[in-house]
Amino acid sequence: MRRPAKDSAGRSSVTNNTTRGKEASGDPDPDLDPSWIDQVRRGLVAWYERSSRDLPWRSDRDPYRILVSETMLVQTTVAAVVPYFERFLKRFPTLSALAEAEEAEVLKAWEGLGYYRRARQLHAAAKQVVALHGGKIPDDPESVRALPGVGRYIAGAVLSFAFDRPAPIVEANTQRVLARWLAWRGDLKASSTQARLWQAAERLVPAQRAGVFNQAFMELGALICTPRAPSCLLCPVAEVCRARALGLQDVLPIVSPRPSPLQAVEACALVVRDGRILIVKRGPNRLWEGFWEFPTIHVSGADPAGRSFEGRGPVELGEGVRLLAGIEIEIGARLQTVTFGVTKHRVKLDAFEARGLDESLTPGPGVVEARWVRPESLADYLFGSAGRQLIAGLARRSLGD
Ligand code: SF4
Repeated sequence: MRRPAKDSAGRSSVTNNTTRGKEASGDPDPDLDPSWIDQVRRGLVAWYERSSRDLPWRSDRDPYRILVSETMLVQTTVAAVVPYFERFLKRFPTLSALAEAEEAEVLKAWEGLGYYRRARQLHAAAKQVVALHGGKIPDDPESVRALPGVGRYIAGAVLSFAFDRPAPIVEANTQRVLARWLAWRGDLKASSTQARLWQAAERLVPAQRAGVFNQAFMELGALICTPRAPSCLLCPVAEVCRARALGLQDVLPIVSPRPSPLQAVEACALVVRDGRILIVKRGPNRLWEGFWEFPTIHVSGADPAGRSFEGRGPVELGEGVRLLAGIEIEIGARLQTVTFGVTKHRVKLDAFEARGLDESLTPGPGVVEARWVRPESLADYLFGSAGRQLIAGLARRSLGD
């Protein structure tokens, strides 16, 4: 069964790897006649100039700020990104400052924003710009697209917002708006629909003021043509909208439902000894590489973080800690359960209190370092969302909640 799109507050990064279908490679879309395009452009830009939000990355056309903001906005809402963007720019005010930073510093500045691959790629992109382009983000599409983590969407944003190049943008907001304008009933996720959307966006973006147009296009989707209950009465281009004319604005676009997440169960030990707590750092080539965590084992279901020990079946938590950190522990009560999403999985993590019976630590499989640390210094270490929830729980308990 198909359902209308529900939520796209965050931007989906849509790359240009879509298979170009018949619509994309054949004749221009008959819906997009020049007078319609002209009406859309004029209506959108005039509305944007009087209604746009004052967002920190819009204060100038610095391509570095645009690259940072657009990378953060992939899969993340504007409201969530604003404080991270401001902190990140304070920490790394220029592209060269970012390029020179250690990866751990970059990840720490990104901590809490999720999808850490974006941070690693942004860091790699900054290094590439320094190495190949003298520290200046290039303004030609080929070089921009060659930067790590820069798909067609982010390239379109950088090229049009910073350099006014007529590069198209298709993201969660604009694809919804386009599908409604043109009353397209194809599944938004289908490669043929994506190809058609990119073709339409290419035709819509004007040769001049491309950046303003693209931002207006996205802003309409964010503020007016929202996923649910679009504000058609306030819409500056309502008269050109076919979905509205047909009464389909609440039904379109069509998006095939996401498959249910795979369930996973993990357990971790909050091992304490002499007022310090045990943390381990994940090794290379694994999910959350370089992150610290409380020693964690896979219990049942899917194993998205690759926690199973090679050549062994499931292990008990005590044995798991012995393998990961080289110490014996005494396990106590379950203290907390946290749940979180990772890739296509939903993970339930049970955290148990434990007492460390040994002092000396030996990192095991998948661990590069194990340490005893004071609870008050945990904030200095890079943790994923589960770890941060557990640290907050520890702080609450020590305050007597
Ligand atoms: S008229 Fe309604 S459905 Fe059409 S673009 Fe405007 S807000 Fe969206």
